[in-house]
Formats: sequence, C-alpha cells, structure tokens
Amino acid sequence: MVKHRFMKNRDIYHRPALSTSFWRTTPLDRMTHGQWESLCDGCGRCCLQKFRDGKTGKVTYTWVSCYLLDTRACRCTDYGNRTTLVPDCLVMTPEQIPCLRWLPKTCAYRRLSEGKDLDAWHHLVSGDPESVHRAGISVRGKAISEVYVHPEDVDFYAIGYQI
Ligand code: SF4
Ligand code: SF4
Repeated sequence: MVKHRFMKNRDIYHRPALSTSFWRTTPLDRMTHGQWESLCDGCGRCCLQKFRDGKTGKVTYTWVSCYLLDTRACRCTDYGNRTTLVPDCLVMTPEQIPCLRWLPKTCAYRRLSEGKDLDAWHHLVSGDPESVHRAGISVRGKAISEVYVHPEDVDFYAIGYQI
C-alpha cells in the first residue's frame, strides 16, 4: 500500500452573524467567507491521518490526528499558520469539493455539494457547537495525536469502517 497523508483546512473560530438557513439557498461558490467557514462542524475528522491505496485508490482513515489538532476541542491550534506548519494541510475551495472523495460522509461541505442538507447535530441547525460531540460525530475521545504515535505504527490505528 502506498501511503499518502493528506489533510484539509478547518476554521471553526469564525462565527459571524449569519442569515437563517443560508446553506439551503446559497451555492457553495456563492457563499461569503464567513458563511463558508461557518459550515465546518468542528468534527475534526478531516484532520485524521489517512492512507490511500496506490492501486485501488481506497482511502483508509486512522485515529491518528495531525499534531496541530487539539483532540479535546477538535480544533486546529494554529489555523492561521497551518499551511506553513503542515504543508499537506489542504486549503479547500468550493470547486474542489466534488473531487475530494476522501472527505468524511458527514462533512458539511461534502453533504452540501451532494445536494444534501446539514444534519440535526450540525451547529447551524442545533445552535449548539457541542452537539457534534454529543452525537458522536467528532473525534473527541477517539483521536490520538501523531505526537504520541511512531510513524511506523500509524497503521495500527486504522479505522475499520468508513467515516
Ligand atoms: S470533516 Fe468537514 S465539517 Fe468536519 S472538521 Fe473537516 S471540514 Fe469541518
Ligand atoms: S494543520 Fe492539522 S489540525 Fe490544522 S487544519 Fe490542518 S490538518 Fe487540521
């Protein structure tokens, strides 16, 4: 298996005033920066290390997270400098979303690009940023930072189901 680690950007700090249910009426590529950033549910799933099989293209997630992820808060601890500190942290654009098949099925960006609505546990629906954790969607209590895992042992933390 050819290993390839890839990650993406997340910013759940930016919480601007937003019009109600804007995601149902505004295409991803027409959203304001604030709307776009607010879509992130703070699950932290995309900050987990993943492997792509070089032959089949199948992506396998692991419970090993990027060293910049606060595994309790499920937030990037240095979002502003993430692409410098973690060169393979991808800055997503609306145009890329349909091609990023490795995004978790629960990811708000993926769901909207597939014509789905946000789930009930999404903070824009529930009004509560903790609901993603209560629903068991986030990596809180599950992820282990790569700081504590030898690179050769990451495979042992492979997640045996699709997230
Ligand atoms: S998977 Fe999607 S919703 Fe979850 S943290 Fe990453 S970008 Fe945000
Ligand atoms: S730098 Fe790491 S923790 Fe921060 S957004 Fe990128 S993958 Fe997530």
